[in-house]
Amino acid sequence: MTQRLFTPGPLTTDARVRDAMRRDWGSRDAAFIALTADLRRRLLDVANGADSHVAVPLQGSGTFVLEAAVGTLMGREHKLLVLINGAYGRRMATIARRLGLTVETLDHPENAPVDAARLAAALAADPAITHVSLVHVETTTGLLNPLEAVAQVVERAGRRLLLDAMASFGALPLDLAGTPVAAVLASSNKGLEGPPGLGFALVERTLIEQAEGRNPSLSFDLHAQWRGFAADGQWRFTPPVQIVAGLVEALRLLETEGGPQARLARYQRRFDRVAAGLEPLGYRLYLDRPLQSPIIATFVPPSGRPFDFAALYDRLAARGLVIYPGKLTDAETFRIGCIGALEDADFDDLVNAIAEG
Ligand SMILES: *Cc1c(COP(=O)(O)O)cnc(C)c1O
Repeated sequence: MTQRLFTPGPLTTDARVRDAMRRDWGSRDAAFIALTADLRRRLLDVANGADSHVAVPLQGSGTFVLEAAVGTLMGREHKLLVLINGAYGRRMATIARRLGLTVETLDHPENAPVDAARLAAALAADPAITHVSLVHVETTTGLLNPLEAVAQVVERAGRRLLLDAMASFGALPLDLAGTPVAAVLASSNKGLEGPPGLGFALVERTLIEQAEGRNPSLSFDLHAQWRGFAADGQWRFTPPVQIVAGLVEALRLLETEGGPQARLARYQRRFDRVAAGLEPLGYRLYLDRPLQSPIIATFVPPSGRPFDFAALYDRLAARGLVIYPGKLTDAETFRIGCIGALEDADFDDLVNAIAEG
């Protein structure tokens, strides 16, 4: 039975992406070196960052590259302000603390966007803060944070912005020529619709140049990783060759589709279908509509009757429809991912299957 994943990644991949992975590459071979160069160029192009940033892919999941970026770009002389309105903001704070960095948090409710005015006040009050981190789309709920406003506040205050764009990259347009972001951190298996196994950082060239020798970790040193690519086009350590090939194919498909703008429209159409199908059944969106990104939606089950997520999950999974549990501490919810290589009809099938319950 084919699996249809209504999840925030790993997600349903296109057959062409899976086909692109059906061969072997030698990691030092010219063909694979060219593939890596193509990958790095395409990643920058998605965010219009070729003039200002460098692309540094890293083996592992998205969290690996978050940890690598914080460890490489920040040191004991720095202080990080973490903007939090969900689990991924909290994870960023955990990473920075584990690295022994000085960390401050600005906490918000999980159903409210990051407040740029509060951020401006916090930066004005504490000149020691050198870096700010933001989660663009908080996958905990699907909430879209106000990147543009935050980036402008950070820029005006003369600090650096680290952006966890894991859930948004490839789907929400990002223009690094116009939006000041020091480092964009994302992975292969979300809006890019590639296979899981690779994270990447788009880092301002001047910033990565200054980061030599800062990260005490060998594997997670993004400066050394970047130097490796710059020197001979090769990966320092065994690259996930099939994942690179699958991701390059996924990036080609993104280009063919019309780029992030077109992809966002596709996700929005699906989100609207799911919401329009589930709301009459008594399921309610957890977030106010203006805060909701079409990447992933959090639903609150109908009130007045018991809700058994495990039973719903099993009933859907028996038909190859995979949904996602909620991640909120204070409310019973579940999530539907709207990303991935699925058809609109797949979302109708999902709504119909839920309705039969
Ligand atoms: C997926 C995701 C990550 C990284 O998670 P991994 O499981 O390590 O890939 C980080 N931040 C956000 C917002 C995410 O959606």
